[in-house]
This record gives sequence, structure tokens and C-alpha cells, in this order.
Amino acid sequence: MEPGEPREPREPGPGAETAAAPRWEEAKTFYDNLAPKKKPKSPKPQNAVTIAVSSRALFRMDEEQRIYAEQGVEEYVRYQLQHENEPFSPGPAFPFVKALEAVNTRLRELYPDSDDVFDIVLVTNNHAQVGVRLINSINHYDLFIERFCMTGGNSPICYLKAYHTNLYLSADAEKVQEAIDEGIAAATIFSPNRDVAVSQSQLRVAFDGDAVLFSDESERIVKAHGLDRFFEHEKAHENKPLAQGPLKGFLEALGRLQKKFYSKGLRLECPIRTYLVTARSAASSGARALKTLRSWGLETDEALFLAGAPKGPLLEKIRPHIFFDDQMFHVAGAQEMGTVAAHVPYGVAQASRRTAPAKQAPPAQ
Ligand SMILES: [Mg+2]
Repeated sequence: MEPGEPREPREPGPGAETAAAPRWEEAKTFYDNLAPKKKPKSPKPQNAVTIAVSSRALFRMDEEQRIYAEQGVEEYVRYQLQHENEPFSPGPAFPFVKALEAVNTRLRELYPDSDDVFDIVLVTNNHAQVGVRLINSINHYDLFIERFCMTGGNSPICYLKAYHTNLYLSADAEKVQEAIDEGIAAATIFSPNRDVAVSQSQLRVAFDGDAVLFSDESERIVKAHGLDRFFEHEKAHENKPLAQGPLKGFLEALGRLQKKFYSKGLRLECPIRTYLVTARSAASSGARALKTLRSWGLETDEALFLAGAPKGPLLEKIRPHIFFDDQMFHVAGAQEMGTVAAHVPYGVAQASRRTAPAKQAPPAQ
């Protein structure tokens, strides 16, 4: 008999009374297994680490985008309705969200009553009719996303604040820029050019340093005076912590959850691992980066100083679920080598980009 297959009812016979208890247990187990897997309740947003993802970050919608661009909104909605029962393919944020949920499972085992977990919110300006296909897709992949925010074409920024968002990931660079300008940690997420398998059980997050975890104050010196002056400056200011950058708060949130594993003696088996991947060189300018993190009471599990070498090959070895950088050059290099990379539009490196923005008005973020 297959597990879960209904059993034939047995005739009560001699000794039925004594056998009743185990049979009842058996039946209860059987029906418990039949019931849908009990999902945990949503945590309170102010306690959780809230990750807002857009529909195009979570799922691939290339064909739908093409229909929207070529045939307009009516045809787009019609297509979505016709394909309502067909789940979307996973998008660039999908493995990241899966890894967040794997961490949540471990946290709930260790701290069953705590709200200190990741809470994933789907933020989209899609047409309400498309919502059913999104819900179907979420259920198809067994994702735990209870909060939906359908903004009906409005900017998601005020919702992001209301949800106490710790990180916002979108495929729409304009929305991300708006969020960054409002002081919300945000990044435009890009699919890798090829697939690289990522860990199912350990969340790995890689950060650039300057203009991501740190402010862009040192990068301004490189741009204005060149690398030699930058090295001198960083050496001279080694003990002066850098100001914080847009993603510092997210690293802090990851650190807070990591400590929950450490306090249970699970430092080595911690299902969250963080990486600093910086173009700084260890000898000349690395100390200031590390001392800054230390001054904040933060650390990354690994710190990799590339001294200007390309980041892509190293990221290919780390296999993070997401890598954040403020320079499109590094984002493209990471993508090339199979890493999901996210662009943080902050700091002096954006100056040239902002003068010639690529305008596009997609239907969904
Ligand atoms: Mg940088």
C-alpha cells in the first residue's frame, strides 16, 4: 500500500475494544497527512526582516512583457487570463526567496514562537486580474508569500515604508532609484546569462563595499584624484570609519538572524553566510573597510579583496543567491559568470548613468 492511500475499513472483531486506540491513532495520522501542510502564520512586519520583491523579479515574464510592448495592455491582460493556470517560470529573485524560506524553516525549528524571520512581500503594479496567475504560481512552487501589495499602477514607495521594508528587489530600475532616494535599501535584479546551481540549504549574500555597504566617500576620491591618491587617503584614514551605505541595514538584519543560530551553538552550520567582495586591495585600503564594519558591530563571514581584479570568476566560486554592486560593470561581470546580480543605484558611479537614462514604461515591476 502506498503511503497516504486510504485503508479498507476493518470489521470490528474480537478484541476490537483493545485495538480501538491504535486504530484511532492510525486513522488520525492518516487524516493528518491528508490535510494540506500547515503553513506558519505571517510574522508581524515590525519584528520580521521584510523583503519586498516585484513580480518580474520573482518570476520570468519575458513573453508577457513582449505582448505588452507590441500589442498593448488589453492584449496583455487577455494573455495573462488565458494562461492563468500556467505558472510563471522562476525569475532572478526566485532562488533567493527559496533560500530565505529555508532559513525561516530552521529559525522556526529553533524558535517556534519568534517573529524574527524573513517575511516576503510581493509588490506589483500589475493589473488585478494578473493577481490570480501570480497566486497560482506562488502556490505551484509552494512559496510562503502571504502579503501581496498590488499598487494599481501607483509607486510602491509608500507601501514599502508601511511594510517596514528591509530590502526591495525589482526589475524596474526607476522604481529602485525612487526607493534608494527615499533611503530604502533597494536594488535592480538581473538574471544571470547562464544557470549555476546554488545552495538549497544555506543563504549566501555577497556585497560590494564602497557605495553599497559603505557610503561613496572614498569612491569620490578615486574619481576625482585617481587610485594612488585613494590608497594614500585610505591609509591615512584607516581608523576613521566610513559612513554607512544603502545596504548596511540589510547586512545588519542578516547579522541579527545569524546570531540566533550562533547562540544555539550553530556558528559553523549557520544557514546564512555573507561575503564582502570588494575591488579594494587588502594591503592598502582593506583595513579601513574591515575596521568600519567592526565599528558598527558587524562582520561578513568572508572578506575578499580583489585589488581591481574582475569579480565574476570569484563569485562563480562563491555561488551567492544574490550579489549587490553599485557599478553596472561589476553587475554585468557577475551575470556573465552565472551569478544573480543586483544593481544598487547609489553614489558617484551613477553620475554618468543618470545623464542618459534608458526610459521604458513596463507594465510590471
Ligand atoms: Mg562600489
